[in-house]
Amino acid sequence: MTTVATPIKKLAEDVASRIAAGEVIERPASVVKELVENSIDAGAQDIRVEIREGGRRLIRVADDGGGIPHDEVELAFQRYATSKLRSIEELTEVSTLGFRGEALPSIAAVSQVTVATRARGEEVGTLLRLEGGRVVDRDTRGAPRGTVITVENLFYNTPARLKFMRSVTTEARHVSELITCYAMAYPGLRFGLLSEGRRVFQSGGTGELYDVLVEVYGLEVAQRMLAIGNGSGTDSTVVVDGFVSEPLLHRSHARNLTALVNGRFVRDRLVNYAIREAYHGLLPKGRHPIVVLEIALPSQEVDVNVHPAKSEVRFRDTGAVFSAIQRAVRQTLARQAPLPANTTRVNWEQVVQARQHRLVGAGDRLAPRPGELALELQRTAEPAAPVGERTAKDKLPMLRVLGQLGRTYIIGEGPTGMYLIDQHAAHERVLYERLQSQRDRAAVASQTLVEPLVVEPGPRHAGIDEARLAKLRELGFDIEPFGGGAYLVQSVPAVLETGDLSQSIVDIMEEAEEADGTRPWEEEIIVSLACHGAIRSGQTLTLEQMKELIVQLEQASLPRSCPHGRPTMLHVSAEQLDREFGRR
Ligand code: ADP
Ligand code: MG
Repeated sequence: MTTVATPIKKLAEDVASRIAAGEVIERPASVVKELVENSIDAGAQDIRVEIREGGRRLIRVADDGGGIPHDEVELAFQRYATSKLRSIEELTEVSTLGFRGEALPSIAAVSQVTVATRARGEEVGTLLRLEGGRVVDRDTRGAPRGTVITVENLFYNTPARLKFMRSVTTEARHVSELITCYAMAYPGLRFGLLSEGRRVFQSGGTGELYDVLVEVYGLEVAQRMLAIGNGSGTDSTVVVDGFVSEPLLHRSHARNLTALVNGRFVRDRLVNYAIREAYHGLLPKGRHPIVVLEIALPSQEVDVNVHPAKSEVRFRDTGAVFSAIQRAVRQTLARQAPLPANTTRVNWEQVVQARQHRLVGAGDRLAPRPGELALELQRTAEPAAPVGERTAKDKLPMLRVLGQLGRTYIIGEGPTGMYLIDQHAAHERVLYERLQSQRDRAAVASQTLVEPLVVEPGPRHAGIDEARLAKLRELGFDIEPFGGGAYLVQSVPAVLETGDLSQSIVDIMEEAEEADGTRPWEEEIIVSLACHGAIRSGQTLTLEQMKELIVQLEQASLPRSCPHGRPTMLHVSAEQLDREFGRR
């Protein structure tokens, strides 16, 4: 950040009037925000924040920045007095966080403020006390270089505002959220927060965003965050970097979406919307990812002077920003683990003329008797598909199968407690990786139908072009145009051996049609195939079948999630059980 070297001067009246005036201080966190931004602008390396009663009683921000020169301290508390901006032209390329010259006077007007500061090159420091904006005390004294601003009894003279303050814990949470955001925005600076004398947060200032993630969210969460890295959005003027949570890691609150635009922490609907879109279909309903986005774009592409609190921005090219973010996040997620593009289903009209069909040579094994599962759960000696990197945390321990629950979950015992495994999701994962591996070796197992099937998409649906027909053939379909927009299917991938075949084919086509193109069409087909080939919930499994499924899941490279990103299992640790039973 730029260090303040220029003296403070009052902005010309026309400049001031063109900067929209408004409410700057809404709550204790707004005060903290303004003071911290001033510290950053002053080139501080170490910023210590202290609050009492959520900031209502006291807010203190101490920095080791450039300080305020002796003869400018009082001026700093006058409206539109700033050392950071001279003309309206400079507003388009403002590189400091502050520029409006409004914060200190606004804060001082509604509280009791004490400033202790010593500027670079000055022997003694300045002490200034204000009450309701009026100077009540002024002194010189020895002080370390930097600035300490103490704000007491916020809104003491505006009872209406005081009434709108939320509980101490809510206000304190806003402050700590803010500090962690700035720590993420400036990984090279050290931020500390004390609340009621207790250390709530401290960042190390290593310069690495990942280190701050560990400090903010803990090691376990940080390890499950995916780095956006390079290659994302490089063709655009908008560069997106940062971290996004893997699809299995989510929160019930959207407040873990942190967006930094040119180092400025902002709340922006467009940004949040782009993130949500990127996660579309990956998160359970009502859940939100943890995301820290660093968005960099030329300063003339973004207007930061939208709101006095400067927490809103306006992008010149919203489309470019939206797609850069969406692409960067989506690509990062897709790189880690293949994703479904869209798993919602619409009702096809009567699309299939399903003639009677049976599988050739299937015999009794493939015709499920009532209540029995016709599954070929043989152990596969195939290499695991290259699905992301396999790490220790993905590995599944050896499990002892105990039984089935609700014809949906397999109960297993592992070295560290109990596992509940979703039989459908688990089998989906197994089939998905098997299909990928077979596809990569051009060896997808196929089954010939006794009677061919005629598939006919309705008028609202696109047909299947030659290129896609070729892909389908690679995946084990024997499919050809049959006239009038219909297709004749003579064989299908072996994974589709169970269930309603015609409905499966329709679903697969439909899902592939709705794909948003973030991953290859044939990947969509593979996801759908795995889903439709997998055992359903509600199916009774024998102990043997369950054991086989678990063995296969253990061999999967990403056993803990299904291809849609949902968890395949739930782990209840021995400690948790003991706790629940009051043994600890
Ligand atoms: P702005 O940040 O928009 O310039 P402020 O009211 O926040 O307006 O601050 C007024 C001026 O006071 C700043 O321009 C800066 O020169 C000075 N100032 C405020 N806080 C600090 C600080 N912590 N260290 C050094 N200078 C500061
Ligand atoms: Mg400021």
